Amino acid sequence: MQVIDEPSAIQRRCESLRREGKTIGLVPTMGAFHEGHLSLMRRARADNDIVVVSIFVNPIQFGLGEDFDSYPRDVHGDLAQSERAGVDLAFAPPIEAIYPKGFQTYVDVTELTEGLCGASRPGHFRGVTTVVAKLFNLIRPNQAYFGQKDYQQSMVVRRLTADLNFDLDIVVLPTVREADGLAMSSRNVRLTPPQRRAASVLYASLSRAEERVKIGERSAKTIVDAVRAMIEGEPLARIDYVALCHPETLQPLDRIDGPTLLALAVRFGETRLIDNRIITPA
Ligand code: AMP
Repeated sequence: MQVIDEPSAIQRRCESLRREGKTIGLVPTMGAFHEGHLSLMRRARADNDIVVVSIFVNPIQFGLGEDFDSYPRDVHGDLAQSERAGVDLAFAPPIEAIYPKGFQTYVDVTELTEGLCGASRPGHFRGVTTVVAKLFNLIRPNQAYFGQKDYQQSMVVRRLTADLNFDLDIVVLPTVREADGLAMSSRNVRLTPPQRRAASVLYASLSRAEERVKIGERSAKTIVDAVRAMIEGEPLARIDYVALCHPETLQPLDRIDGPTLLALAVRFGETRLIDNRIITPA
């Protein structure tokens, strides 16, 4: 595995691989790898001649007062894990290489970023789409891999790809979970043991909601209220949002008449966790 930290160097390397006729799969990440990241790398490995992983804690997708400084980082461990997962190129640039002095161009996806995490983290998706557009331009992958755990992000990236005519496929893979259902996240390591135990309520509440829909409940308000009540039963949990939305437009829904996105964000102490499920009535 080759480690590259210069944008112009990864651009040249990928250009030369493309000329040799190689297909390139890109897995964009912020590092601190867990099985969720590795599942994307393995799939990229199976699908492509060359796998590129980017490791970059992107400062512009963190708001003021968010956890940019304390975000978990482990570049050495990440490089070892990438190598074991069969990655060919790891791109781990310093901040000033991605945002040099004078940088002032941003990519903004409008409607899809208004609700859910976009509402509680203003500017977050502008940071995500800007860095993703830069990565797509530098690496020009044939396919890029994202996790369903960040459902809104995956829809925003699909929109960006279509709207800016990036010539690549976006592949979205299922959420990898711990034994009790908690979605794997780099942030989970920051939970205290009691918070970690309490956090299993997220998966349990998504499951309970799905059961209620399967046995006939169609009112979004009833489902959202039930999820909120279950989470509020955990004294360590502080709800940011619980929402039922159209899975493509992400607009809030009153009734569950087809596949519906149930998405939530909940804080445990300083740590904000997200999860979601597509619920389909029986
Ligand atoms: P991050 O490093 O958290 O920005 O995540 C990098 C990529 O891994 C994103 O596409 C995430 O959606 C994906 N990802 C994060 N957690 C999981 C998980 N538990 N299962 C599957 N994919 C995940």
